[in-house]
Amino acid sequence: MKTANIFNIQRYSIHDGPGIRTTVFFKGCPLNCWWCHNPESQATTQELLFDQERCLGCGNCLRNCPVGAIELVDGKALRAKSKCDICGQCIQSCPVSAVELVGQIMTVEEVIEETEKDLLFYEESGGGVTCSGGEPLLQADFLTLLADYYQQAEIELAVDTCGQIAWEKLGRLAPKIALFLYDLKFIDSEKHQQYTGVGNQLILANLAKLAAANCRIIARIPLIPGINDHISNIKEIGQFLTELNIKDVNLLPYHRAGVDKYQRLGKEYKLSECEDLSEERLAQLVGILEKLGLNTKIGG
Ligand code: SF4
Ligand code: SF4
Repeated sequence: MKTANIFNIQRYSIHDGPGIRTTVFFKGCPLNCWWCHNPESQATTQELLFDQERCLGCGNCLRNCPVGAIELVDGKALRAKSKCDICGQCIQSCPVSAVELVGQIMTVEEVIEETEKDLLFYEESGGGVTCSGGEPLLQADFLTLLADYYQQAEIELAVDTCGQIAWEKLGRLAPKIALFLYDLKFIDSEKHQQYTGVGNQLILANLAKLAAANCRIIARIPLIPGINDHISNIKEIGQFLTELNIKDVNLLPYHRAGVDKYQRLGKEYKLSECEDLSEERLAQLVGILEKLGLNTKIGG
């Protein structure tokens, strides 16, 4: 039985493609973007989120941990990641739900059952299912089974991808995907490497191949003030899209939702100084893309 590591299934989603959708979030991503608002999506394995503020220091978790991975330090539980095997005992024993498991191993049938609960909404709103993440194509065999099912059931499947995936996998899946939400951050590969951990040659090449195959694509650009919201970068992305004859762009302004999750995962948040994008800047960037003939929308 094929399974995947899924960290969330969000119903009534209106920011992940047209209409009302159910978004299935796959765990694991080849990129490590500084601004990622789902840092729990990055690792392929299951993880624990620990809310230190909530912890009462009662010690239940350390008494129940079978491998002795937890100790109390300054009245708070402290878990040694190197010892923990994510058995989940501490989650069960915590009276205030300070510990949370991220990532659930699900079968194709379980995901289908959950996503089919809102068939009526999909039909009435022109929506469907979106597979996002993380990077859903990292679990390509599972995604293929889902795509086959939705195609046969005439449920529109969108895939939100970072594009950092072997063309062999992406090209094989492309005919089964009704819509790609394709993320672009930079045209400059060095900048891409600096802020995401990988260069963008493969990402740009894959987008060109999908466009040449006449796939339906909406490009999505996260706008991170001071990092990729420079006029030159947005103009270059816009020009690249027009060369590929891609017409639709969504701009996703930076927000701070999810910042607390870095602390709960024990990860560093590198953008602590980042300000919100100003309305003026946003209007300016929209203007640049519209001038290039792109249908530009703010939000997903
Ligand atoms: S998940 Fe299991 S091994 Fe890890 S800290 Fe909790 S009880 Fe211990
Ligand atoms: S069981 Fe919960 S509240 Fe008690 S020490 Fe562990 S994490 Fe803190």
